[in-house]
Amino acid sequence: MERLQKVLAHAGVASRRKAEEYILAGRVKVNGVVTKELGTKVSHKDQIDFDDVPIYQEEPVYYLFYKPRGVISAVSDDKGRKVVTDFFPSVSERIYPVGRLDYDTSGLLLLTNDGAFSQKLTHPKYQIDKVYVAKVKGKADDKQLQPLTRGIRIEGQKMAPAKCVVISNDIKTGTSIVELTIHEGKNHQVKNMLKAVGLPVQKLKRERYGHLNLDKLRPGQSRELSKKEVSQLM
Ligand code: URA
Repeated sequence: MERLQKVLAHAGVASRRKAEEYILAGRVKVNGVVTKELGTKVSHKDQIDFDDVPIYQEEPVYYLFYKPRGVISAVSDDKGRKVVTDFFPSVSERIYPVGRLDYDTSGLLLLTNDGAFSQKLTHPKYQIDKVYVAKVKGKADDKQLQPLTRGIRIEGQKMAPAKCVVISNDIKTGTSIVELTIHEGKNHQVKNMLKAVGLPVQKLKRERYGHLNLDKLRPGQSRELSKKEVSQLM
């Protein structure tokens, strides 16, 4: 249940303050009845009209998606490249990605039509662990990764300390597999952090988001989150 003015604001009718004015002016109906009460709680099952025009409230939906490499984390692309919503042809709700993964990064991405959920999860204050596995050029060791575990500055921006684990070194190819756990979501953060310690990323995958992982999904596949999973994230 949400406050009426919030639902009106989310539906794009007006800002929350303006929506309050409309409610007080008697321009809003809930299930056919004018409602001038600002605290009124409504759900997606209630029919809301503004100036007798129905407000379309979609039921919130939440998907866990295994984003393949070579796909844009957006709902459209002016260069005609594949976007994440292309993988949801039968979903009629207007879903969009929660945050983003780079074009060449694969892994776990959430999609939803719930603005409040998305806003909350992408807010810098909201510290949810994200686990990335990177293939890097070079022979990574704990000492080299130490600056990242302490927290470093990159171009004046402070990166919070990250948990770093060297999974393996491949002497033949001169590459390593490194696991990084961060709870921020700055642009190209993992690539920039590893580059800053001399380990340029060749391949990157997000394996975990909070308590969620990819399980048996294959690239391009998705599943709906359960109610419990959604409430655990909020
Ligand atoms: N960090 C990156 O560098 N790229 C991503 O896609 C996600 C995190």
